Amino acid sequence: MSEIDIKDILRLYRDPKIARRLAFKIRDIAKDLEDVLIMHVCGTHEWTITHYGIRSLLPDNVELRAGPGCPVCITPASDIDNIIKLGMEGVVVTVYGDMSRAKGGKGMSLEEARSRGADIRIVYGIQDAFMMAQRDPNHKYVFFGVGFDTTAPATAYMVKKGVPDNLSILSSYRYVPPAVGALMMAPDLAVDGIINPGHSSTVTGMKPYKEYFDRNKKPMVFAGFEPIDVLLAIYMILKQIETKEYKMENEYTRSVTWDGNVKAMETLLEVFLLSEGYWRGFGVVDKSGFVFRNTHKYVDARYIYGLSEPRDKEDFVAGARCADVIKGKIDPVECPLYMKECTPNYPRGPPMVSIEGTCKIWADHKVTGIIKCRF
Ligand code: SF4
Repeated sequence: MSEIDIKDILRLYRDPKIARRLAFKIRDIAKDLEDVLIMHVCGTHEWTITHYGIRSLLPDNVELRAGPGCPVCITPASDIDNIIKLGMEGVVVTVYGDMSRAKGGKGMSLEEARSRGADIRIVYGIQDAFMMAQRDPNHKYVFFGVGFDTTAPATAYMVKKGVPDNLSILSSYRYVPPAVGALMMAPDLAVDGIINPGHSSTVTGMKPYKEYFDRNKKPMVFAGFEPIDVLLAIYMILKQIETKEYKMENEYTRSVTWDGNVKAMETLLEVFLLSEGYWRGFGVVDKSGFVFRNTHKYVDARYIYGLSEPRDKEDFVAGARCADVIKGKIDPVECPLYMKECTPNYPRGPPMVSIEGTCKIWADHKVTGIIKCRF
C-alpha cells in the first residue's frame, strides 16, 4: 500500500464530519438510557480519547473511564525493588525508559539506583539487551520484562531461539483477558461495557475473552486507536445496551481476528505458564501472570537470583489515589495530589510516570476537571 493510501485511510478515521455524525447517533441512543459506564484498558485508547476530546462529545449519562492498561502502572513495586537489588549487586539492568522512573516499594526508582552506582541501561526491547550481553560476556545482564500480550511474545521468541548465558529475564509480563474478566465482575466498578485493547487483542485474538463474556454478559467491543474507532466502539456498546442483545463485537476488523496470532501465542505458552499475577493497584488476577516454565528456568532471573514473588500489597505515597486511578474507580482529577504535589516533572505515582499512564495523559493535555459534554 502506498503512503498516499495510508494517509487517506488515516484521514477517514480522523474525519471530523464522521465524528460529529457518530456523536449525534451516540447522543440519540443515550437519551433513552440510564447512566452507562464504559471502561477501556489501554493507555493508547486513553491517549486518543483525551487528545481528541472524545469525552466532550458524549452525553452526561455516558462515562468513559480508563482501567488498568498501563504496563508501568501495574508492574508490582516489589519487582521494581527486585530489579534495583540486582542492579546494586552489580548485574547490568536493561529496562524500558519510562519503567526506569517508577518507584518501587522502598521509594526508589531505577533512575535513582543509577545515581547510586547501579548500571542501568535504557533499551527499546529485548533485542538490545541480547546484543549488549553478547558483546560483554564478562558481565551479567538482566532484562526487566514488563508489559502485556503485545511485548511478551518477542521475549518468548528470543528465549526459544537462545539468549547469551550471561542474560536473564525478570518476567513481570501480564495477560490481559483475565484482567478484563475481573473488571467486568468488580462490584465496586459496576462496568456496563468494555472496550478491549486493539493491539494486545491482535496477538490473543477475541477467543480467550469468551469465557469472561459468557460469565458476565456485558457488551464487549474490540476497538482500534483512531478517534472514529473509539466513537464507533462506544456506539456499538450503547446499541447493545439499547437492544439488550449483548455480544462480543469487533470494530477493529483490520487487525483483530477471532484466533489472533496463533504462532505468537504458541511461542508464548511454550516458554511461559499462566499463573497468578499481581497487578499493582488492582490486585491478584488468576491466570494473568507469565511465569517461566521449568524448561526455561535457566533464563528466569527470579529463579537464578532467588528473588521474591510479586507482593500483593499496595504501596503508594500517603494521600495518593494511584490504586483507584489504576483500577478505574476514579479519574485523575479526583486525586488530591493531581497537579499539586504530583506532576509529570515530579511524579508521585506510576500513572503520572508513563506516557500510557492516565494521570500523565491528562496532565499533558492540561485536563483540570471532569470533562463534560460540550453540546
Ligand atoms: S495524581 Fe499522582 S498521586 Fe494522584 S493518582 Fe495520579 S499518579 Fe497517583
